[in-house]
Amino acid sequence: DDDLRPAQIRSLAGTTRLRLCAGQVCVSVASCVKELIENSLDAHSTRLQLTFIAHGADLIELVDNGDGIAEHDFEKIGLRYHTSKISQYEDLENVNTYGFRGEALSSICIYADVTIITRHASASIGTKLVFDGEGQAISRTPCPRETGTTVSIRSLFNRFPVRRTELRAHSKREFSQALNIIQSFAIISRQLQFFQILSSSDNHPPTHPLLTLTPSTSLKDILAQIFGQKILESIIHIDDNNNNDDDQNREFKFDGYISRPQHGSGRSSTDRQYLYVNNRPIDCAPLLRTINDIYRQFNPNQYPLIVLSIEVVDRSTVDINCTPDKRTIFIEHLSNMCDQIRNILNKLFETSSNVYVVSHK
Ligand code: ADP
Ligand code: MG
Repeated sequence: DDDLRPAQIRSLAGTTRLRLCAGQVCVSVASCVKELIENSLDAHSTRLQLTFIAHGADLIELVDNGDGIAEHDFEKIGLRYHTSKISQYEDLENVNTYGFRGEALSSICIYADVTIITRHASASIGTKLVFDGEGQAISRTPCPRETGTTVSIRSLFNRFPVRRTELRAHSKREFSQALNIIQSFAIISRQLQFFQILSSSDNHPPTHPLLTLTPSTSLKDILAQIFGQKILESIIHIDDNNNNDDDQNREFKFDGYISRPQHGSGRSSTDRQYLYVNNRPIDCAPLLRTINDIYRQFNPNQYPLIVLSIEVVDRSTVDINCTPDKRTIFIEHLSNMCDQIRNILNKLFETSSNVYVVSHK
């Protein structure tokens, strides 16, 4: 009788394992874009051009002017757990690159048709590589190119019909999430001098840039570029210099901007709220809640624009490897962090409300 036969535990084949796990890294257009940008920044790029066709469903392409990839690495680019960024787990504490898990390109190869054109500074010409679903480079041809890398992701989810249909149905929403990711990197990446986004909503290549940023200058300047010059009148600098006299003993350093209490945005969504820990864009619900709660004591009807960059001085107190997308991090002294930001904002809003009252007398 079939029902009585004991189940058998078997070891899954490599391809099956890959396909089962790929979704933990690249689940959407936004997460593909995030991985591509991270790789370009890790390769010291200063100029990025991102192209989307059909909101990314047909093409997501990033052209960078970074270090390029050397020929001896071609075979390894698309393989899981292959990275040039760390060599052992202990390296994580001091890792300064966004990537370190060696999973992104392998995951993207499973989900889409990937082509990479790259030229390392040591090469006399570029190479075009085409990858199969298992991340193997199945063809390589010489291709003229300046030093740098172009990664093209075509027909995302084409081997996963349910997700492909879902993506096409919601491509506009997915694209706006991708834009949010792009903004979060443009805000924090001081190395960038030029960042252009081209996008089309149908299957024709875009002809005009959607957004061109020149983010090399100050945080204030990049916020003006992203949100418009007028935003500068409505935000205040989050300044923690008076918070603790002894710079040496600080556990956290804060830098950023937040809407003045009388200048929040009416929307209930939190789409203009960006948090960073040690220069990594992160999601941290308790911290966001703390900030929004304080804000709403001064302005109960609106939400603020938040750009908050936190330096955790002792890096051994954060774990950046909690989830495959590295967006959720573990902060050992999170409640301290929340207390400190609560104090800073309280002081800031009290003074800024006073200024507001005085200036309107
Ligand atoms: P990780 O970033 O965690 O190392 P990825 O799968 O994202 O893993 O990338 C694999 C490797 O491919 C990287 O370690 C890097 O050496 C190389 N690479 C990927 N994208 C680029 C790029 N734009 N420029 C230079 N090298 C790249
Ligand atoms: Mg990476």
